[in-house]
Amino acid sequence: MDGHGLYFVGYAAMATISGAIVAWAQYSRKKSEGIPVNYTVLKVIFGVALAMWVGAAMANFAYTQTTTATAAAGFSVGVILSIFFAWQLKAVVRKLDADAIALRELATRDALTDLWNLRVFHETLKLELARAIRFGHPLSLMMLDIDNFKQVNETHGHMAGDMILRELGRRLLVTARTIDCVARYGGEEVALILPATNLVSAEQFAERIYREVLKPPFDIGSGSVEISASFGVAAVCEKIQSDTKLLMAANTALNTAKDSGRNRICAYQAAA
Ligand code: GH3
Ligand code: MG
Ligand code: MG
Repeated sequence: MDGHGLYFVGYAAMATISGAIVAWAQYSRKKSEGIPVNYTVLKVIFGVALAMWVGAAMANFAYTQTTTATAAAGFSVGVILSIFFAWQLKAVVRKLDADAIALRELATRDALTDLWNLRVFHETLKLELARAIRFGHPLSLMMLDIDNFKQVNETHGHMAGDMILRELGRRLLVTARTIDCVARYGGEEVALILPATNLVSAEQFAERIYREVLKPPFDIGSGSVEISASFGVAAVCEKIQSDTKLLMAANTALNTAKDSGRNRICAYQAAA
């Protein structure tokens, strides 16, 4: 082997050693912190190392042969490396896309119920309110709070409570329109932003949820449980023109429903 060939061997050795160090670091992290090994990174590093070893072998061959052989060797290594990088790049981009989607889901969805989280709720409420006022469209807000849920947990266990909440979320998502925003407002409380919906329609929708979502018993594995909920609905009107006022109105209506015996729908009537 001549001096030129040795350069390639040096590069290939460096890439192989780097790969070994990264592999060792990843393995240690997996052992100590349980972080899974990133095989894509290892594939890239060892792929480069392999291509360099092939390059070293070809360079050694080429430098002892003719100029044509040198060109052919260089070209072949280039093609191999390009194909390899294109293939790896595709895998990396696909992984990045999947990670971005997963991250967005984590930042916007409630893990138990799959409903929108509080952050999305507040953002959506502001946006829908601005839109409703700008175009003069109706907008309603519905708050739903499961009745005596503490008792349900105490009687059937927290796991059963979680199953009920998960199923409630699923049923609500099936029943609501695509344009509605169904969010987990708190523990056993759900908020529904209903664009293009006036107070009367919001009450009718609450009745539908009452019949279709809450009436069918909830499966908890060891049997089924019946639950009820109280509803508070409010709509944008002359006196309610901000997100805080709309939220306050819906919560006031919900408190009225609770105070007057639970298991009912109350609409907020703005004083004349
Ligand atoms: P009310 O009719 O007045 O709403 O009574 P409540 O018992 O439903 O209300 P309270 O605010 O006293 O208690 C809420 C309960 O909801 C307490 C808590 O254990 C339960 N809860 C909140 N979040 C979760 C959850 O993620 N999983 C389960 N299983 N229970 C939850
Ligand atoms: Mg409750
Ligand atoms: Mg509550």
